[in-house]
Amino acid sequence: MKYISTRQSTTDFSASNAIHQGLANDGGLLVPKNWPKIEWNDSWKNLNFPNFAYQVLIPFFKGDNLESHLKDICDKAFDFPLPIVDLKNNTSVLELFHGPTCAFKDFGARFLALCCQHIPQYRNEKQAMVLVATSGDTGGAVASAFTQLTSINVTILFPKYKVSKRQEAQLCCWGNQVKSFRVNGTFDDCQRMAKEIFLNQEWHKKFNLISANSINLARILPQMAYFAFASLQSKEKANFIIPSGNMGNAAAAIWARQLGFPINKIIFSHNSNSTVVDYFNSGKWSPKPSIETLANAMDVGNPSNFERIRNLIPDLNDLKAFAAAYCVSDSDIKKTISSLANIGYLACPHTATAFYIRNHFASLNENWIIAATAHPSKFESIVEPLIGRSIAIPLALESILTTNPVFKDIEPNILSLEYGLNEPHYS
Ligand SMILES: *Cc1c(COP(=O)(O)O)cnc(C)c1O
Repeated sequence: MKYISTRQSTTDFSASNAIHQGLANDGGLLVPKNWPKIEWNDSWKNLNFPNFAYQVLIPFFKGDNLESHLKDICDKAFDFPLPIVDLKNNTSVLELFHGPTCAFKDFGARFLALCCQHIPQYRNEKQAMVLVATSGDTGGAVASAFTQLTSINVTILFPKYKVSKRQEAQLCCWGNQVKSFRVNGTFDDCQRMAKEIFLNQEWHKKFNLISANSINLARILPQMAYFAFASLQSKEKANFIIPSGNMGNAAAAIWARQLGFPINKIIFSHNSNSTVVDYFNSGKWSPKPSIETLANAMDVGNPSNFERIRNLIPDLNDLKAFAAAYCVSDSDIKKTISSLANIGYLACPHTATAFYIRNHFASLNENWIIAATAHPSKFESIVEPLIGRSIAIPLALESILTTNPVFKDIEPNILSLEYGLNEPHYS
């Protein structure tokens, strides 16, 4: 199994090299060169998620050094529940937030960390460093995964004032192995800095860099596996609504469909950041500066993973044949959280965008599965005032909140990051 860039270059990468590389040399994202055929059958419906993921993912690692470790990686990475909750009225919820940091990012981050442990480049004398730009949840998931599962160092870039208190605590509680930088800018600035560093030879000379953003193949693959898993639990072909920002989950669901799993329609629910919705309407791809919203992990104006989707489905009409995208305003997010609480379901602001679309744009006669991307207690300052009571905090989150946060403030450029990394406090 080989991987190639979404852009011009024709170099092939093995799975391990694709994970090590993050981005292709031409700045493109890595995608399968040929799509494997997966011969699933009804008995797969009875597999637990780690075993199911192993079955789906093994062709993606064929011939790679990671192939023989994959079973063990899946067992360790996905050692938490993945419930599908039936809410009646043809609506169910794929709860992706039962991992250690209470957001779906745990799946990809833990899978990536365990893959990196077996990639030879990260075992030589040059220091391995995970670099991650985060709009809120990725950084915590990556820091947690790498500190718990490996001895690899982590550098986190997060936007100042744009993450929740609890998210910030989760980014800055890990101690020496993790260095957190609060960037005076937006998530797009953080992402731009990460991309610049990955294309910079000086940084590569110094560190064995690992990209943990959703551009990394190892993050997308397990996400593809959970959409495939959920599709087999559905009575008819599955329809998904997916809260989307950088479009990693969106690309993963489309990949699961491409593999032949029984997936019919897919809707991307966005907050007021409308780049993808505008593309659906106009056919023109024009990234914009990101706008702050209540669903902050989706505040992305230039969604990187859309390049993977366009690579697979270049013609907008082909995409529209099964997919759609809508924006949901902050006030509709709030209304949705309140009305869901009235029927006894608590949703985070991201998940609320999907519920809003389920009720306003998706046929009530069809079954829809909503991807619930984070636990509502991570966004207590938004959710609690709307529902008029406090939300119980999962144990994993509670222990983090009692630690003193440690981070450094930097300007949105890589020079500033270099200084930050070299300061005694962080060296
Ligand atoms: C990261 C994140 C998203 C956006 O996911 P993408 O794969 O980047 O589109 C949505 N909701 C939550 C809670 C997130 O953390």
